[in-house]
Amino acid sequence: MQIKFLGTGSAEGIPAINCDCPHCSRARREGGKLVRGRNAILFSLPGYQLLLDTPPDIRESLVKNKVRRLDGIFLTHPHHDHSGGLEEFLYWKAELDLFAETTVYKALRREEWGDRLPEVAFHCAFHPGMAVRFDGFFFTPFAVYHTAPCFGLTLYESGHKVVYTSDSSNRFSNYAYCLMEEADLLIVNTPRFFPPHEDHITSTEAVELKDRVRARRLILTHCNHHNKPHDELEEWARGLDEVTAAYDGLEVEV
Ligand SMILES: [Zn+2]
Ligand SMILES: [Zn+2]
Ligand SMILES: [Zn+2]
Repeated sequence: MQIKFLGTGSAEGIPAINCDCPHCSRARREGGKLVRGRNAILFSLPGYQLLLDTPPDIRESLVKNKVRRLDGIFLTHPHHDHSGGLEEFLYWKAELDLFAETTVYKALRREEWGDRLPEVAFHCAFHPGMAVRFDGFFFTPFAVYHTAPCFGLTLYESGHKVVYTSDSSNRFSNYAYCLMEEADLLIVNTPRFFPPHEDHITSTEAVELKDRVRARRLILTHCNHHNKPHDELEEWARGLDEVTAAYDGLEVEV
């Protein structure tokens, strides 16, 4: 499968509005990989284009990356940086599936525009731990510990396994650890570099997680301005085994 990171920032993106910290100031001055849109990933699977999350910047991300075909959206949780751009799809001129767990879908329906949600997409309710099977691939969603109901997923295709942990604390269920075991690729949201951070696993903890579950490769994403600027994060990751810092536009094949 092809994986494209459309947005690799955390809740506030980089540069954050009205922030003059050194990281945001550098991002404003130099641009490039220092700038991070909010979290969205495009998985190109056999016969199916799956968009993971719809952040407030999704319109810009789709235009910039020339994404003209989508079949479905997997929505991890209702936080604004992951779901705030869903309304944009009122202007998407094709049918879409919306994979969302029932409590997450209900939260979305409570939005001011939520009555129009069925116009945007066909709700395909999923249940954590139950595989959603397609022709040629499948995914298994799993629940994580976060400040809202939140779900990661494990994607299986052509004998390869990719795990995305979504917004999670550094506390996983034993079930989630089983799903992560020997993954070809583990993608982890790490807003900050160093612990402690109660609601989110950090970059250094994600490396420990990779070793624990013996994943072959780790990609860090969903990084905020408290984390290292991209070039410093990349340099740190280079000294580790198969660890990559994502940037907006990064493409990988598994
Ligand atoms: Zn987030
Ligand atoms: Zn800042
Ligand atoms: Zn969140």
